[in-house]
Amino acid sequence: MKKQVQRRIGIMGGTFDPIHYGHLVTAEAALGEFNLDLVLFLPSGTPPHKDARQVTDAKHRHLMTVLATLTNPHFEVSRIDIDREGVTYTIDSLRLLKAEYGEETELYFITGADVVMELMTWKDSEECLQLAEFIAASRPGFSFGAKTTLVEEWFAKHGKKLHVINVPAMAISSTDVRERVRAKKSIRYLVPETVEYYIHKNNLYI
Ligand code: NAP
Repeated sequence: MKKQVQRRIGIMGGTFDPIHYGHLVTAEAALGEFNLDLVLFLPSGTPPHKDARQVTDAKHRHLMTVLATLTNPHFEVSRIDIDREGVTYTIDSLRLLKAEYGEETELYFITGADVVMELMTWKDSEECLQLAEFIAASRPGFSFGAKTTLVEEWFAKHGKKLHVINVPAMAISSTDVRERVRAKKSIRYLVPETVEYYIHKNNLYI
């Protein structure tokens, strides 16, 4: 059954290990800047380039994402990457979401700028570009470096534009949050309270 027609949907792709305020501010910024109707958070399943053992169980990452997004009526969480068997490629997620929401819906894939720099190497990368606009969220101090021209030219060659948003709140990072928990330091104000409680209750990152 098709869902209610949404004109523009943002898709927050990431591991969210754990989700933090930087991600939420990124999604809110994209919502406003690109006039999105909805931002769908897509915690990753088994990413193509990662050792699954290094990533926290999808059950926890999904639940933390639900807790963090609960109070925003424009945010939703999808399980499609988590529930898919095997390696999760973005092309498969985009095809599924197009089928679910309808061809007329515009998809905006939002993720970290360093991830987008590698887009050319993704499975069916050219089709990815046709199915979605790409928004790279840049954190303070991040530099696209020499690769920028290459990536921008590749987008232009396919009649597309790489969108970049600078998000000061992305000074927060999941790596730092995990390290702080391990070192018994406070993570208050870095993650929503509910996520903080969830991490401690489930002894994550220790
Ligand atoms: P990740 O490990 O979660 O993050 C890589 C970097 O990007 C980190 O600096 C991270 O910051 C930041 N980041 C991640 N998601 C973000 C978001 N939504 N908004 C702002 N910053 C974000 O990245 P990943 O899970 O490997 O990849 C991200 C997405 O790209 C996933 O949906 C993944 O499936 C997709 N991807 C697809 C392919 C493919 O199809 N071949 C290959 C690579 C990635 P934090 O650590 O603070 O989160």
